[in-house]
Amino acid sequence: MGNSIQTDFFIKDLNKFNYLKIKNLLPEHVNLLAVSKGCNSNVIEELHSLGQNDFGESRFQEAFTKKIFKEKNKDIRLHFIGRIQTNKIRKIVQNFDFIHSVDSYEKLVKISRIANELNRNPILMIQVKLADDPEKGGMTENELINKWDEIIQISGIKVNGLMTINPKGLTSKENLSLFKKCKSIADSLSLEHCSMGMSQDWNEAVEAGSTWIRLGSLIFK
Ligand SMILES: *Cc1c(COP(=O)(O)O)cnc(C)c1O
Repeated sequence: MGNSIQTDFFIKDLNKFNYLKIKNLLPEHVNLLAVSKGCNSNVIEELHSLGQNDFGESRFQEAFTKKIFKEKNKDIRLHFIGRIQTNKIRKIVQNFDFIHSVDSYEKLVKISRIANELNRNPILMIQVKLADDPEKGGMTENELINKWDEIIQISGIKVNGLMTINPKGLTSKENLSLFKKCKSIADSLSLEHCSMGMSQDWNEAVEAGSTWIRLGSLIFK
């Protein structure tokens, strides 16, 4: 197996000071997702012992090397935030409680089929692409609006929110404006959640109404 991943590859440490500081600053309706890619199980456990229960992973193979996946702990919620490969959907639905990064109607249909079959009910968010960014996937606003009537008819699942990733290098004002756009689309579709804001732009995301900020580099060093 050429692509197996060694656990000692994950070298990041917890930045406890930043974690506790941000945790204290966040309004109550904003959830903090700890993006634990690059962290090994010890670091995840250390953060869990501080009361952090939501962990996000973006790389499927990496995620499954970790203890939180091997030994299911009831108070830990696992979030998938990476690009979804169609042939991994079954494992994702089986193992994750939240899927933030559903980037097409077709994948949503497949997720629903498998969720029904496995009797799983993941919290689902649709990834939207609100600015041109060749590196990022997601439905455009138009695609989402045009498909919405079909999306709400997919059986056995419920879309709970939207997720977005802003392009790198934007000004604070530009970030804020894209996040407000995401929030307004979510509101227009009566969706509860907006998964938006990362280490560089979480302040703007909170200001715009984020309910899930996804932090990696700010809380792990
Ligand atoms: C890695 C990652 C994050 C965390 O990014 P930081 O800038 O390190 O906070 C958030 N969301 C997604 C989808 C990611 O892949």
